[in-house]
Parts: sequence; C-alpha cells; structure tokens
Amino acid sequence: MAFVFLVSGGVVFLLLTIAALISNREGEPAAQQRFLPMAVLLSAPYFLIGWLFEIPPQILFGLFIILPLIFFLYLILPIDPAAKKIEVSPPPNYCHDERDIMFSRQRLQPGTNRFDEYYQTHPEKKALDDAWRAKPGLLNPKAQFYHPLYFNASDASFDTVAFFHPHVQPQTASEKQEVQAEQVSRFIKDWLLRSGAHSVGITRLQDYHLYSHRGRQEPYGAEIQKEHEFAIAFTVEMNKEMVDSAPLAPTVLESADQYLRAGMLAVKLSTFISKLGYEARAHIDGNYQVICPLVARDAGLGELGRMGLLMTPALGPRVRIGVVTTNLPLQTDDYQPDNSVIDFCNKCKKCAYNCPSKAISFEDRQWEHGVLRWKIDPEACFGYWCAVGTDCARCMKVCPYSHPDNLMHRLVRKTIRKNSMARWLAIKMDDVIYGKHPPAKRDLL
Ligand code: SF4
Ligand code: SF4
Repeated sequence: MAFVFLVSGGVVFLLLTIAALISNREGEPAAQQRFLPMAVLLSAPYFLIGWLFEIPPQILFGLFIILPLIFFLYLILPIDPAAKKIEVSPPPNYCHDERDIMFSRQRLQPGTNRFDEYYQTHPEKKALDDAWRAKPGLLNPKAQFYHPLYFNASDASFDTVAFFHPHVQPQTASEKQEVQAEQVSRFIKDWLLRSGAHSVGITRLQDYHLYSHRGRQEPYGAEIQKEHEFAIAFTVEMNKEMVDSAPLAPTVLESADQYLRAGMLAVKLSTFISKLGYEARAHIDGNYQVICPLVARDAGLGELGRMGLLMTPALGPRVRIGVVTTNLPLQTDDYQPDNSVIDFCNKCKKCAYNCPSKAISFEDRQWEHGVLRWKIDPEACFGYWCAVGTDCARCMKVCPYSHPDNLMHRLVRKTIRKNSMARWLAIKMDDVIYGKHPPAKRDLL
C-alpha cells in the first residue's frame, strides 16, 4: 500500500515538473515559478504517508488516492450540463455597412463633403470620433508606445499589403478548366497549409458575410453585391512572443506582418483560381468586402468569443484571417456551434478585466438585430489605439485560449471542450498559474 502512495507522489511531482519545464520553454517564467513549488507541495503528502506507514489508514487512501482519481475521471468524461443550456444564436439577418467601422471613419477628412455628409446622417458618432481624433493616432511618433523600429517596420508591412490591393481580383482566364469540387477543395487546403496557413475551411457565401456598402475602397458608399457562391477562409498564427508584449510596440508589428502573410496567401489563391477560369476575389487588410470572423466561423474554423474575435480550437484568438470568395465549385465544411467556448467566455471575462479601455462587456451575450452576441465598444477600443499608437491586443494576450498549441495546453483544451467542471477549473488555474493581470513582456524592446 505504501508503494501506491510513493508512485502517486512520483507521478504528481513528475507531471508538475514537466509543466514547469514546458512553461520555461514557452517563456513563461512566472508560470514556471508557480509549477515548481506546486510540484513539491502537492507530492510531499504522498511521499510522507508512504514513508510513515507500511499500511496507510484507509481514510488516507480514500482522501489521497480514491478521491483525486474520481475527480480526474470526472474531468475527462463528457459531462457538460452548462453547454447544453446555452442558446445557439441564429445567423445575422442584416449586413453591416463598412462606412460605419472605425477604419472607414478614420479616413474621413474634416472639411470634406464626405466628412460632413457622414456626420449629418450619424450625428451620434461625431463627439465619440472627435475624442479619438484629438489623440496622436495609430503608428504616430507622438503616441505613448512609440518605438522607431517597431512602428516603422509595421508601417512598411502595412504599405506592402497595400501593394496587393490592385491584384485582389485578378483577370479570369477565358478558358474554364474542368474541376471536381472535392479534389480542388482538398488541393487548396493542403496548399494553403503548406504555404503557412494554420487552418483552412470552406463555406457557402451568405448575404450577411458581406458589407452592405464600401467604406474603405472607391467608389465610397457603393453597394456591395453578392457575386460569388463560395468563400475559402484561412487563419495564420500570430507569434506568441510578440503578442505577449501587448499592448507595446512589437504587437502591432506582428499584426502588420500577419496581415501581410494572410494578404499574400489570399492573393496567391485568388490568382490560382482565376487561372483555372473561375472568378475569385481576395479580401485582405484595407480591402475587404466580407466580415472575416463571420466567414471563418461558418467555414468551421472556430467560434466567436467575448472580445468579438474568432476563437480557434488550437490558438484561440491568436490568429489573423484571410478570405477568398469565388465561383469555383467547392466542397463546403459544416459549422458546428461550439457551446463550450460560449460557456468559457461567459465565466472567464479575463479579456474584459484586462482591457485598458474597458471596451469589452462583462455582461452575457445580448440580442441585437436578431443575433445573440457580445458587444464591444469600438470607439473606446480605437481611442486607446490612437493614444498608444499600437493595435493593443491586450485581450488576445491574456486570453486562456491563446496559449501555445503544445501537448500540455492541448490536453487542457480537449477536456474543457466536453466538461463544464474542467472549464471552471481551467479558468481558476489560468489565474493562479499565469496571473489575473499578466504583465506585458518587455524584453523584446
Ligand atoms: S479572455 Fe476569456 S472571456 Fe475573453 S475571449 Fe478569452 S476565453 Fe473568452
Ligand atoms: S484591443 Fe485592447 S483596447 Fe481593444 S478591446 Fe482588446 S484589450 Fe481592449
């Protein structure tokens, strides 16, 4: 019997020491420093009992062996009453107008007809927009987190994405190649994954995926028509180390670099499809006609979380999205609502607690235009960006789903998908191990 305690103590010590080593490799010294004492403290009672008693009392066996074993088995079983109670939102019954998003409003120049007309029809937005216009602005040298290298490098990457804008909708070849939907879909997915995408999915293009009117491209205000039948969505990974510096300067460089990578892949794909003789359009930074997170969700790449971003199964929100719409016949992927993410976000709220502008809601999802969703305050978020000069991403950095896609976090992700109690425990442990308010990493600067 003493042997069982000694082995159990060894297993507890070994697992927590491995967790400490993984944390060290992840560049999480605080987590490493918490795992190591836990390894000693949690394994010590087992070693002590095994050393003191040749045959330990039954009460100790029940408390230290049977109970933890039952708890562990409970956590890995699919017992999920919380997720079952969650209401699945219907798809939106309206289209967003791109002229209303912050990046379009940012382009309005005071003193122009376009500026005056916009605020005549949206007077409620004038004071809110004047507040962030009074701040230095994104990538501005006067902004709080200005860094000459990171800011100029980010500018260079954003400028390079803009070089792709004239090529988003390549000329379609006059001769149409015969393709099989299943084969070409598989080819596109394999090709994108080999080219650096992290995940790829295909969906039927819906009206609500599209903006109603143009806001960033000319002709400004033109109605956007649904011209394609399918949409291919893919994600690219944001580097964890760079995101960990959020909201400091490296994070905006990582955003710019991944917008560039997504843009390059999307233009490459739309060019390939047009060579096959089918219409295609890449949707890339500064030149979208679709709302990427909605398309990506319907293509089966994840669920929409509290911060309004796509929460992917392997990297959480730590991705950027690229989309290509097309008439190429494709095989679509099914969207399966993932209530475990909604339940996690209902309980977690870590992004809301850590958002420096208080733009993320602490409330449950609300009905708006026939959709159940979390609403964020875009003016507050953008106002913070304009003050600090970066695109912040503090919410992305602190999200428990953003941890690296390695064995330790994969095991956690697998259990929280199917078990309400595991989700509750993961939220608590994330605060204990990584901190309720994890600081920005500064060593890149
Ligand atoms: S930090 Fe928590 S609440 Fe926010 S998106 Fe991530 S899991 Fe959801
Ligand atoms: S990017 Fe920053 S300011 Fe905006 S919602 Fe996320 S944490 Fe808040």
